[in-house]
Amino acid sequence: MSKTKIVVSSNSGFCFGVKRALDIAKGALKKRKTIYSLGPIIHNPQVVRQFSEMGLVVAGDIEKLCKDCTLLIPSHGISPDVLKEKAFTCIDTTCPLVGRVQKIVRELREKDYFIIIVGNRKHPEVKGLKGIAGRNSRVLKNKKEAKTFNLSSKSRKVALISQTTASLTNFKEVLSEMTKKDFAEFIHFNTVCKNTIDRQKEAAALAKKVDAMIVIGGKNSANTSKLAKACKNINKNTCHIESFKDLRMNFLKGRKTIGIVTGASTPPYAIREVVKKIRRIDS
Ligand code: SF4
Repeated sequence: MSKTKIVVSSNSGFCFGVKRALDIAKGALKKRKTIYSLGPIIHNPQVVRQFSEMGLVVAGDIEKLCKDCTLLIPSHGISPDVLKEKAFTCIDTTCPLVGRVQKIVRELREKDYFIIIVGNRKHPEVKGLKGIAGRNSRVLKNKKEAKTFNLSSKSRKVALISQTTASLTNFKEVLSEMTKKDFAEFIHFNTVCKNTIDRQKEAAALAKKVDAMIVIGGKNSANTSKLAKACKNINKNTCHIESFKDLRMNFLKGRKTIGIVTGASTPPYAIREVVKKIRRIDS
């Protein structure tokens, strides 16, 4: 009989947007031998490898691609300036929730707001939003950056939005700093996606109850890294792994309860493999 109790968060595995993107790509790859993806389709190395075997190639220099290539826009979207060349056939897998934020940014730009995006400036979604927002925009990572942010002109209307996979706590902290500033007008949109919020809440609740937490997902996945950080703040016995191969026996030793959470781009089979490994060591 197994000794360790394993609790898998109900908000685990692919989110709706990631699942949708992979389904679209799978369908398209049945009709085409090769499709070039503008960056990894999702932030999970195992899945990217699996799709590369099916013919989805991460595009390097877009300038070097021939005009009749088919391009895939990943789930987190792209900046409009990436596709200066109109001749490409595009398969757009941008998550509709990211699309909604892009639409908000487009409208804010038209209304001449200075747009502040809370997020990671290196993340493709944020680069895409910044590209849509244009010159009158800024990306702020956290409350420290928000504290020192100021605009030279006091007459500007300012709008705050968030990367969909940002930490809600971080967004609220930045929001609280921004409300202290003296702008002509200030509006905000909490655009952290519900799936991200639910995942973060459940992970935090689970981390309080168990002896140890395992967070599964790509090391390059923003939302997985944030989950791992949040869990570690609550439960120091937290490890972030990409697959069962990274799970060490020492980490499992003596644990009576283990919680498992995943990022939005982690495939369900990765959870099954981790559970299987714990059970094997346990028996
Ligand atoms: S985390 Fe949310 S916004 Fe991002 S792809 Fe998934 S459902 Fe879409």
